Amino acid sequence: MFLQKTIRSRVQVQGVGLHSGKPCTLTFVPAPPNTGVYFVRGDIKERPSLKVFAELVSATGYATTLGSDLFSVATVEHCLSALSALRVDNLYIELDGPEIPIVDGSALPFLAAIQKVGLVEQEQPRKYCYVTQPVYFSEGEKQAYVVPYHGLRLTVTIDFPHPAIGRQKLDLDINENNFKKEIAPARTFGFLKDVEALQARGLALGGSLENAIVLDDEKVVNPKGLQWDDEFVRHKTLDALGDLVTLGMPLMGHVVLYKAGHDVMNKLVRKILDSKDCFKHIELGADLTEETRLRNTSWN
Ligand SMILES: [Zn+2]
Repeated sequence: MFLQKTIRSRVQVQGVGLHSGKPCTLTFVPAPPNTGVYFVRGDIKERPSLKVFAELVSATGYATTLGSDLFSVATVEHCLSALSALRVDNLYIELDGPEIPIVDGSALPFLAAIQKVGLVEQEQPRKYCYVTQPVYFSEGEKQAYVVPYHGLRLTVTIDFPHPAIGRQKLDLDINENNFKKEIAPARTFGFLKDVEALQARGLALGGSLENAIVLDDEKVVNPKGLQWDDEFVRHKTLDALGDLVTLGMPLMGHVVLYKAGHDVMNKLVRKILDSKDCFKHIELGADLTEETRLRNTSWN
């Protein structure tokens, strides 16, 4: 049986928000079993907290924002993506600002911080959202669905009418090792032609060539170029993994996405949660056969 996990000790990540441009320190803090993942504003007197859950997603334009009456947290997906790949069940993410630091635009700084302190097993079994029937969502040409699968697999397709991007597809079984090598370093990206309009709306104020891939009408303008030709679809996979954390428990299923951004991901997650006959809560090892359990050792 796989046990829940938290981190061994507190660890910090610092930077500025991609959209707000405001400095922010994020502190990962160990949490007791059966807590889940919470954002906490440590700089506000009452220390309000917010559970990472699909129904609390308050905005999905350019980034995923979670919000309540008391506070909101923007651009949560890169940080959550690392938690998803490392199977961190219980964690407080303490912040002193309105947005998660963008750092280098990837998930690597969050992954590195957690790996630096390490994870500890807790005394409670982990519960998974085990998909038993397909759940489909589509909106125009955008599609997102999940089908039964003994593990977590993502197949992501993007199609941008831009000579440096075009159609890209990635299909990957997600575990800690391949997340670290293939996904975590992939940076967020944006188009030069959108920057002025975004900044007029108070967005992308912290964006730079140090924390995003920037494209003009023809090419990538960052002097060092790309890490992979398909860095774009790798980053979209990173984003999707982060958004999946809003399910409230790790997913076992094969998620297939076509042109799906944060809005579609949120709608898919809400639809899964509403489709009670399409999944069950299981403890891996107790409800699955030994053979399946062995095939999923990466789940630990
Ligand atoms: Zn992103």
